[in-house]
Amino acid sequence: MTRTSRRTFLRHSAAAAIAAPFISTRITRALAEESRPKLGWALCGLGGLSENQIAPALLKTKHCRLSGLVTGSPEKTREWRTRYDIPDRSVYSYDSMSRMAENPDIDVVYVVTPNALHGDHTIAAAEAGKHVFCEKPMEVSVARCRQMIDACDAADRKLGVGYRCQFSPLHIEMIRLAREEEFGAVRVIDSAFGFRIGDPDQWRLKKDLAGGGALMDVGVYCLQASRYISGEEPLVVTAMETKTDPVKFREVDETIAWQATFPSGIVANCSTTYNAEGMGRVKAHAERGWFGLEPAFHYGGNKGTRSDGKPFEFPEIDMFAAQMDDFSQCILENRESKVSGLEGLKDVKIMMAIYEAAATGRAVDIA
Ligand code: NAD
Repeated sequence: MTRTSRRTFLRHSAAAAIAAPFISTRITRALAEESRPKLGWALCGLGGLSENQIAPALLKTKHCRLSGLVTGSPEKTREWRTRYDIPDRSVYSYDSMSRMAENPDIDVVYVVTPNALHGDHTIAAAEAGKHVFCEKPMEVSVARCRQMIDACDAADRKLGVGYRCQFSPLHIEMIRLAREEEFGAVRVIDSAFGFRIGDPDQWRLKKDLAGGGALMDVGVYCLQASRYISGEEPLVVTAMETKTDPVKFREVDETIAWQATFPSGIVANCSTTYNAEGMGRVKAHAERGWFGLEPAFHYGGNKGTRSDGKPFEFPEIDMFAAQMDDFSQCILENRESKVSGLEGLKDVKIMMAIYEAAATGRAVDIA
């Protein structure tokens, strides 16, 4: 061995010796994670989202398995039980959720029912001793969100909200670009999300079940994005509502545009609708450039762009699988979820301020 190669060899050996404990810790941690039992998840509400997104995503998770069902439609039960191999004893109705307390196969209940039922189902699951993951929007009032948090706290169970975009590598990169000020400080965030809603008789158009219209359903994604990209809480909001079809949208909002100002001076311009196609973007404008996603909030196929033309791409992931795996890990490691009940409550509180601003025409402080 020459003197140079010997020196190189020694340097590498020393580096390997220093790195070895860290590598072995990482391997041990990875092995421990692999060998962890999967937590049992029960789906409460077997509608479109459960059938098309959540149940297939559960099959892709590392730390979850579909182990129970809560449904009001016994006719759906047989097909679901066969497809996902669920025993009869793990199938419940909305009224028999308290019996879950006796079922050790169920650790978490994922509430996927209409918005105004999230509270009842969350509280029933927590009282049966189960952790709860609840779809967005968390509920239809701040008081209901508070009751859900209190019920989970009283039962010493965790509560998470289905903010899947917070697990998307593209959205995580938006946060990094903002936080590290790669284009300087962010000044303005533009975001919009909407679609043309069909069936005029569906629960999404009924105030008692939905709580609100486009804002509660999809506008909440823009609100969330403005909060996690800015890393701040809005101080004040102004808003305007427009209805072109007062019959179909008799009970809930059709189109709302709002503006929120944040403590650092960031301004978010957001809009949402139930009556136009192709709206789904978020863009952050900073001192020296911009970065954004369009589409931004789809289940897949979202695209990033940066003003400097550098690539803004990540491998596609299943956001539903990622959020459920994360929640299982939060339970296993006894840590708070980044999409906790408190996060859900904050959004509902701001949405109530947006409705008030639209109704009164005044700027509303977020107290
Ligand atoms: P859906 O109408 O397809 O399903 C709702 C389910 O709730 C059905 O199984 C229905 O039988 C049941 N249900 C129980 N009581 C009911 C009642 N009184 N009236 C009507 N239905 C009742 O709705 P969905 O699209 O599956 O939405 C469910 C929840 O998931 C909503 O809170 C929605 O905001 C949320 N969601 C989230 C995403 C996301 O990307 N995270 C996407 C779609 C829906």
